[in-house]
Order: sequence, then structure tokens, then C-alpha cells
Amino acid sequence: MRIHADKAKCEGLGMCESMANDYFEVDEDEDLVQVLDDSPPEADRAHVFAAVQACPVLALTLEG
Ligand code: SF4
Repeated sequence: MRIHADKAKCEGLGMCESMANDYFEVDEDEDLVQVLDDSPPEADRAHVFAAVQACPVLALTLEG
């Protein structure tokens, strides 16, 4: 499983960070998402998927 963040779509709204701040952080300078760990363990799938789905501009995808 791999997290992909499309920074061209990200608007820095921070929903992903509020749902899973162990995987996502909004960079203060750029105001864009940073993926802290793009290959979460299987045990975190539901947690990460919820954060991916929370993005209002569909900038996040979970592959695999
Ligand atoms: S929820 Fe979406 S728009 Fe907001 S910071 Fe995360 S990736 Fe960017």
C-alpha cells in the first residue's frame, strides 16, 4: 500500500492531517500536504483510508 499526494490539487485545508497526523502534515511554508510516511503497514489501512477520503479536493490516493 502506498500513499500518493497530488500537490497540484492540494489546497492545504488540513483535513488529512487532522485525521492522521502520523502520516500527513501541512507544510507551514508551502501550505501543502507533506506525506510523512508513504508506505503504511497493513494494520493502518482503515486509518489512512479515512484520511485519504477526508480530502475535499481528492488530492490523496491510496494505491495497492
Ligand atoms: S486534506 Fe487534501 S487539500 Fe487538505 S491538506 Fe490534505 S491533501 Fe491537501
